Amino acid sequence: MDKGTLSELHRIFQEVQSKPDIKSALDVLFLSMRGFFVFDNVAIYLSDRKTRGLDILYARAMGRGKTAEADAAWGEVAANDVIMNEHMVIHGPKKGSTDDDRISQTFLLGVPLYIGSKLRGALLFVRFGGPEYSDAHIHTASLQAVWTSALIEHKELQEARSELDSVQRQMRLQDDFVSTISHELRTPLGFIKGYSTSLLRQDTKWDEATQREFLTIIDEETDRLAKLIEDMLESARLQSKTIQFKFSPIRLDALVRDVASRVKTHHPRLVVDLQLEPVPPVLGDGVRLSQVFENLFSNAIKYAPGSSITIGAKAVNGRVRVSFTDGGEGIPEEFIPFLFERFYRVPGERTVTGTGLGLYICKQIVMAHHGNIWVESVLDRGTTFFIELPANPAL
Ligand code: ATP
Ligand code: MG
Repeated sequence: MDKGTLSELHRIFQEVQSKPDIKSALDVLFLSMRGFFVFDNVAIYLSDRKTRGLDILYARAMGRGKTAEADAAWGEVAANDVIMNEHMVIHGPKKGSTDDDRISQTFLLGVPLYIGSKLRGALLFVRFGGPEYSDAHIHTASLQAVWTSALIEHKELQEARSELDSVQRQMRLQDDFVSTISHELRTPLGFIKGYSTSLLRQDTKWDEATQREFLTIIDEETDRLAKLIEDMLESARLQSKTIQFKFSPIRLDALVRDVASRVKTHHPRLVVDLQLEPVPPVLGDGVRLSQVFENLFSNAIKYAPGSSITIGAKAVNGRVRVSFTDGGEGIPEEFIPFLFERFYRVPGERTVTGTGLGLYICKQIVMAHHGNIWVESVLDRGTTFFIELPANPAL
């Protein structure tokens, strides 16, 4: 192999290597290698381990007879041949086809793809109107097959790794959850037990004000316990999809206004700025959607104490978008992707109580409405949650 060829191969290798995804890596590979080996179409077939059928991983038309890229039916028979018989396949044009119809003169070359030493598929090239494949061509095609196999294996390993990461994260969250939950259950129980024991003591006479104070604490902590248990059950039900939603036409602007005024009865000093444009109705479950906004209020009150809250509603491209903004500390960017996961809480000081279920519940409810929920946050400026639901103008 001469020096020029070697350095060209080296360049191609580096460029393929630098591509972030398999599709663009394969694009570079096949386009660049056409300098050594001319073909019209290329396709990669992988045998599906479950159905035993053929999946098309990649298909490109480059030269003559450029057809729809996804239509890679031309190579299926030959690909099956390669896979069934575990060998390279070279097919010339069918006898009887005439020279003036070049497109019907197909020269096929199929090379097996071994991934992790198992035969998993075939790499197919086609030339319309020849010429026939020389030994050098066949070697180049084999080189591309080895390269393709490596890229596929790399992609599969990456997918397996990210799945593993997510399972590991889930397991860690479960572990954290057990400690969070036992803490969260014990704290209110401790208060309830402590204050009721005090009240029951026969050797002490509490004045009426103190009795009231103790009873208020017991009352509040009981509510907290009840909410925690309710959230846990709710999230388990949402996860197992056993909740029946009751859908009816809902105006989100009116619903938001209702929730805001209910929240304000408990937090009279909270400033809520409503910027609600009249929006088309959505098909929704009013109770569940109220729960979403109650959770957002609860978070803003806990994580952005003292801040005012601005709620906007408007119609955007056939959807109704509600934005919910606080002026709190914000959430560091690296934690944003996990906020809606079950039990997830931003790490750091734990002065504020919670179980990490609120946003998970919000997301499940919004998804059951075929909507989206996402968050944007700027440190020291504040956080905005967005909720978008499909508008239903027919209602
Ligand atoms: P729960 O809602 O179950 O009582 P929680 O409030 O901790 O517990 P989520 O509502 O799911 O759980 O919120 C997840 C995490 O996101 C919170 O722990 C908090 O760190 C962060 N977070 C949520 N809303 C805000 C906000 N408005 N500003 C800053 N951080 C927030
Ligand atoms: Mg919360």
